[in-house]
Amino acid sequence: MTSFPVTASVVGLGPAGRIAAHRASARGWDVTAYDPAGGTLPSTIGLWCDQLPDWLPSDFLAATFQPSVILADGTERQLARNYGVVNKDCLQELGGFHIERRALTDSETTGTDITIVTTGRTHAAVGRGGQVRQLAIGHIFSLDDVPSAHRRAVLMDFTPAEPVAPATEPASFSYRIFLDDRTFLIEETILATPTPMVDGYRGEAGAPVGSGGEADDSVLLALLRRRQSVRLKSLGLSEDLAIDEEVVSFPLLANLPSRRGDFWHSGPSMGTLFGFAGGWMHPATGYSVG
Ligand SMILES: Cc1cc2nc3c(=O)[nH]c(=O)nc-3n(C[C@H](O)[C@H](O)[C@H](O)COP(=O)(O)OP(=O)(O)OC[C@H]3O[C@@H](n4cnc5c(N)ncnc54)[C@H](O)[C@@H]3O)c2cc1C
Repeated sequence: MTSFPVTASVVGLGPAGRIAAHRASARGWDVTAYDPAGGTLPSTIGLWCDQLPDWLPSDFLAATFQPSVILADGTERQLARNYGVVNKDCLQELGGFHIERRALTDSETTGTDITIVTTGRTHAAVGRGGQVRQLAIGHIFSLDDVPSAHRRAVLMDFTPAEPVAPATEPASFSYRIFLDDRTFLIEETILATPTPMVDGYRGEAGAPVGSGGEADDSVLLALLRRRQSVRLKSLGLSEDLAIDEEVVSFPLLANLPSRRGDFWHSGPSMGTLFGFAGGWMHPATGYSVG
């Protein structure tokens, strides 16, 4: 049984690490977080409002709205659930702990009572066609530039951007959300698709050939760029009006650990895995779970 005062280390300071470090310090624990970048956040974090805990600051969300979904045949369904976009400044300001700007190696011990490892993606899913990734090309517009008919949130618009696309090309959808009261994101996204590997393919039986390699996402990103351009035109917009661009390309997880995280004891210290490192990634979308 742990007695107070508790000392804790949080390894990795992405969204999961920051929340874990903040909540642990709010309990009165003495927390040190390690991250070579001093902390990182993805450019956009969207989530369901009803999943948020009530301790969050009142300005935690920069935008909230009730999105719809558009099926491939054009039928639109209004969802009865609120979706929100995180105010990253507010998330970044959740503190109460010390930060050490460095990576912690696997062999290093932290010397604290508890270690929470949140180092992000491990064990990328790899199949015959390559590494399984989520990819997207998005543009951010001033809300004033978005035609009023399209100034509404659509979580997934499955109508094809290009009506005649070769069947060999992966499907994509358009994601259109408010980022705050001034800006709007339009993003063409491909979920869970095999991405070819350079210098490291899998054989027919799925066994590794060579010693790994890098995923080459250039063809898929070019495909998304082309579709995004057509989509924007159909919405009365063009890339030239955009104030920023978002490029997403990351591997999905293979061999998910238990959602509760693998718990281990090493010497006097207890440890747990949390966030993506603990398997809290939806296996098809690449979004975080909870
Ligand atoms: C553009 C973009 C948009 C996204 N949008 C959404 C969204 O809308 N909703 C959603 O749910 N998900 C979204 N995702 C997925 C999102 O990335 C994850 O939800 C989230 O980042 C997972 O958080 P995490 O803290 O578990 O891991 P990560 O964000 O990967 O953080 C891991 C941290 O660990 C640090 N680290 C790594 N190794 C070490 C080490 N050895 N020592 C110390 N530190 C280390 C890294 O520097 C990093 O800061 C998006 C991703 C991208 C790229």
